[in-house]
Amino acid sequence: MEEIFLLKLGELVLKGLNRHTFEDKLIANAQRRLRPWGRFRVYSKQSILYVEPLDENCNLDGAWEAMKRLFGVVGLSRALACPKDKDAMVEAACSYLGGKLSTARTFKVESKRADKSFPLTSIQLSQYVGGELDERYPHLQVDVHHPELTVYLEVRENAAYVHANPDPGAGGLPVGVNGRAVSLLSGGIDSPVASWMMAKRGLALDMVHFFSYPYTSEEAKEKVLTLAKLLTPWCGRLIVHVVPFTAIQEELRRKCPEELFTILMRRFMMRIAERVALRIKAGAIITGESLGQVASQTMDAMKLTGAACSLPVLRPVVGMDKEEIVTIARKINTFETSILPYEDCCTVFTPRHPRLHPLPGEVEAAEALLDIDALVDAAVEGIERIKIDP
Ligand code: ATP
Ligand code: MG
Repeated sequence: MEEIFLLKLGELVLKGLNRHTFEDKLIANAQRRLRPWGRFRVYSKQSILYVEPLDENCNLDGAWEAMKRLFGVVGLSRALACPKDKDAMVEAACSYLGGKLSTARTFKVESKRADKSFPLTSIQLSQYVGGELDERYPHLQVDVHHPELTVYLEVRENAAYVHANPDPGAGGLPVGVNGRAVSLLSGGIDSPVASWMMAKRGLALDMVHFFSYPYTSEEAKEKVLTLAKLLTPWCGRLIVHVVPFTAIQEELRRKCPEELFTILMRRFMMRIAERVALRIKAGAIITGESLGQVASQTMDAMKLTGAACSLPVLRPVVGMDKEEIVTIARKINTFETSILPYEDCCTVFTPRHPRLHPLPGEVEAAEALLDIDALVDAAVEGIERIKIDP
């Protein structure tokens, strides 16, 4: 039994992004995600991506799960290849879609004929196969407007294909088609969701994690690497840049007013993230900030955080409630890891009364006591780069 996948491309009518860039990126991403599951051929025709296994050893179920997480795909079907003959197509529909034909109440058949030498027109083929199925499954009613089940027949050069209603795809745009960004990944719930949301909009990601050993444990770091790994089915392989952050935090504690720790720490994060971004040619910084969620996420605080770097700061969850973020975290399977009880670098140094509305003047005065460049240089020097493969 020869099965293939048909992937329907999304958002092709984008202004500014040309179709070839979109398709080439999507094909390259598909090929990379399929690699662990065997040898496949991937090609596009008329806004459909075809994924064909090249030998018996392919793991189709693994490949199918991988394709369901491929951004840029709005719907996908598994299809059975059969000879280009109307009765062979009836048999293929019965054997391949038998379960669906038995449980649906209404159906229709839709045919596409890329091979113009095929003796029946699309309408004739649909009528013939529809008639045969109607006879074999007497409970089924034809409904051409709102059928529960649509049986699709495609007659192509090498074979005919039979498939049913597509499953929903991951949506979005192919990862990389909009460039690259660095995402600030903590161990919390929000930042993995924020990363996922921006990857969905076509950004390739590098992760930056601030690590405050020994105030935070090796387990806390492992947790972040696990979160990065959980994102790879969508984002592809990643690098996590682990930044030693302890020296900066200790210096802040020594020299600056406690109520400004949070905003000062966050400004250092942005400066360091920007240095990483410049090095890897990334064009933006992503955070999991949500307006009003905690003290550092007021508008005044966000303004001063953003002012510490010149790249755009993307905050995709800024307007979302915690519940909405949690719903996505569950869907992408990061939630259970995010709630493991390891401390984050910020929680260790959280002031008792953080300033909700820090003023530019007081932040400037506090930073005048620090050798910012030296602190940032030392942190960047100490970065450990960890590759995360899917
Ligand atoms: P999260 O659930 O993502 O941890 P949070 O609600 O705990 O977010 P904060 O601790 O204020 O909020 O952090 C806001 C954002 O700053 C995070 O979403 C993340 O993008 C970034 N951030 C915080 N701590 C770290 C860290 N240790 N390493 C990297 N980024 C961090
Ligand atoms: Mg956090």
